Amino acid sequence: MAAELKALFRPRSMPEAIELLEAHGDRARPLAGGTALMVGRSPRVEVLVDLGLLGLDRLEVGAEPEPGARIGAMATASSLARWLKGAGRGAGLTELLGEAAESIGSRILQNHVTVGGNCVMVYAWSDLPVALWCLDARFVAEGKAGSRTIGADRFFAEHPSHVLGSGEILTWILVPRPPRGAGGAYLKVTRNATDHGLASAAAQVVLGPDGSVLTARLALGAVRGLPQTLPTAAAALCGQRAPGPEQLAAIGRAAAEEAKVTADFRAGAEYRRDLVRTIVEDALERALARAARARQGGAA
Ligand SMILES: Cc1cc2nc3c(=O)[nH]c(=O)nc-3n(C[C@H](O)[C@H](O)[C@H](O)COP(=O)(O)OP(=O)(O)OC[C@H]3O[C@@H](n4cnc5c(N)ncnc54)[C@H](O)[C@@H]3O)c2cc1C
Repeated sequence: MAAELKALFRPRSMPEAIELLEAHGDRARPLAGGTALMVGRSPRVEVLVDLGLLGLDRLEVGAEPEPGARIGAMATASSLARWLKGAGRGAGLTELLGEAAESIGSRILQNHVTVGGNCVMVYAWSDLPVALWCLDARFVAEGKAGSRTIGADRFFAEHPSHVLGSGEILTWILVPRPPRGAGGAYLKVTRNATDHGLASAAAQVVLGPDGSVLTARLALGAVRGLPQTLPTAAAALCGQRAPGPEQLAAIGRAAAEEAKVTADFRAGAEYRRDLVRTIVEDALERALARAARARQGGAA
């Protein structure tokens, strides 16, 4: 049973928040949307430090030399999705990230779950980490020793809560501006509208002037405990010009072969592997169509 909560602090500055976490050590946790923390709080946690007054809910278009999106860790999934359809278009991002934000459980959850909370407390079903890894995002953390920026490959290499040091706060998520000719898509398969995913896939491609694939990135979620990328399957797409159904089917098969999948009560491993094959194929088809439109000068 969870221990009784002894204190809830609402610091107004980052140094104050860091000091509070430091002072209470392992008994304290940052509080974001509370959707994981209040459901599965560890018995040790008696002190919560609410990050709500630190101005970390901002969503900004980064200026040179770091164009792209600057996403505050306390921005909710729904505010991110709304922003990406409006002012956030200036960051040049494709639909992929907004689709992942809108895939989270239900509208009510999307109004509470924060981007930071979704990325730090990664579960098998987490949606935003899959999209952000595919987009090669970087994660800014602040702690007693100062600020550091962690690349997605490092941030998601193990559970992010272990990558962050004790008392460290994830403050910003930086998503690089994709080049012209980029297109992306996020797809998720669930048993019903609100259940956790059986498989999810993010695909991002960049097309050159002649329609050939310059770069491709693929990431998967929900098929094992942590998200994963599929560099080998993605590399097999590079250099191909206007890949059609046969080429995409081959990439889908390569993805299914490369993916690490596990079984649970929702689905067996072989079924999940087959889902990977089809979902990667579908996500790539959608991403390529969007990239082709972007190349021709339409919206990304
Ligand atoms: C019924 C249900 C269904 C769900 N379905 C989905 C789904 O389909 N897809 C999906 O992606 N998610 C889903 N979620 C949400 C997911 O499981 C987590 O609950 C959510 O991502 C946690 O985000 P939060 O902002 O509420 O974080 P909190 O619960 O506030 O915090 C979670 C943990 O992260 C730490 N933390 C939070 N923010 C920071 C920060 N900035 N710096 C350092 N540490 C931090 C906290 O200390 C805590 O340990 C679902 C949740 C529920 C309850």
